[in-house]
Formats: sequence, C-alpha cells, structure tokens
Amino acid sequence: MSEKKRGPIIAVDGPGGVGKSTVSRLLALRLGLTYVDTGAMYRALALGAADSGVDPADDTAVKEYCSGAALSYDFKTHDTLVNGVSYAARLREQKTGELASVFSAKQPVRALLTAFQRALGSRGSIVMEGRDIGTVVFPDADAKVFLDASHEVRAKRRHKEVTPGAPHTAEEVSKELKTRDERDSGRRTAPLKMAEDAVHIDTGAMTAEEVVDRIVEVLKDKGISIKP
Ligand code: C5P
Repeated sequence: MSEKKRGPIIAVDGPGGVGKSTVSRLLALRLGLTYVDTGAMYRALALGAADSGVDPADDTAVKEYCSGAALSYDFKTHDTLVNGVSYAARLREQKTGELASVFSAKQPVRALLTAFQRALGSRGSIVMEGRDIGTVVFPDADAKVFLDASHEVRAKRRHKEVTPGAPHTAEEVSKELKTRDERDSGRRTAPLKMAEDAVHIDTGAMTAEEVVDRIVEVLKDKGISIKP
C-alpha cells in the first residue's frame, strides 16, 4: 500500500502505568482511528503459552509455541485471540503483567508479535500503543509520542488499573512495576526507549484529556490532518 493512500500511523510508547491505554483509546475515539493495544497482545500470548505449559526459560519450547500460534485481532473489542481463545478475563491481573514481561523478552515472541502488529497497522488510520512501536514496529510512523511520568505517579495509576478485588497492596504494585521497568528497559531485543524523533510528554500533572489535546497539537504541528 502506498504511503500516501493510507491514513496515519500514530505510535504511542512509554513505560508501564503511564496511561498509554487510556490516552490512546481516547485519541483514537476522538479522531475516528483504530486503536491497537500491543501490551494486551503480549499479555494474551504469555497466558496462551503458560496455559500450554511453556516454560519461558526453555528457549526451544518458546520458539515451538510461537511457530504454532495463530493470532487474530478483533477490531471491535480490541481483543487478541491466540489459537482462537480469548484471554480477556485474565488480561489485567497483576500476575499476567509479570508473565507478559518475562515472555516479551524472548526473541520468537517479539518476532511473532512485531510481524502481527505491522500487518494490522499497515492499513493506517491507527493509534498503536506499546513499548517499541516508534522504535521497532513502525520506525516510519507519521507521529510518535513518548508518554512519561515519575515512578510514584505511574505506580498509583497502575494500582487503580489492576483487577479490582485482587489482593495487591500499593507497595506490591510499585515493586512489581519497578522490576518490570528494569526488565523492559534492559532486555536485548527491542528495549523500552524513546525514539529520537518522538515527542516526549510528561503526563505527571496532566489528565488523560489534556494529554490527548497535546497529542492532537503534535499532529497539527506535523501537518497531519484527520477528519473524525
Ligand atoms: O502495557 P502492558 O503493561 O499491558 O504491557 C505488558 C508487558 O508487555 C510489558 O511489561 C512489556 O514487557 C510487554 N510489552 C512489550 N512491547 C510492547 C508492549 C508490551 O514488550 N510493545
């Protein structure tokens, strides 16, 4: 598909708990674009692998599982199905985030999901959020933003987000987020880092709507016109 004919690809990256999903969903809604949550894909694939008894430390098993995994994406519900199974009910559990972070450091997992995300995004008119969208998945995205906030702010936001009723204290969430940040930033393949041409937005003192307003300004500055 030619660059000119497709709608824009907007990449939203940043660390855990920063509010990427909320902001990206609102942005897509406001501009009439499709929203893709790649973290949810890593979560679903990790659950699929774990349920099949795959040990993330076993490279051969991870590779075999990935080569046999069929993925599909529901554009209405934003759910990723792995071998036809939905993992939506367990996606936001605290332990799923941890599992996703461990599996996502594995090269076959990244290769599978990167290819899947490129196939989905090549249609354009998309807001895709994750850790490596502007750096690896779509280095030529039409606009890239990197959302950031202090660890304290992100831990508070994440605590509100984990499955309600789950027995996790704010301290536990904060500790797990720190471990995950370190793993996501330190891994060899596609580590979390800001793309050189991304616009950095410190969301610490901003509401989600304010962040969306700021991203819309970024798009205008870039001459990206979107008719909702
Ligand atoms: O954003 P979310 O917390 O749902 O992501 C879960 C995990 O999936 C992250 O901690 C990260 O390890 C992984 N991930 C990734 N690359 C992405 C999106 C998520 O490695 N593009």
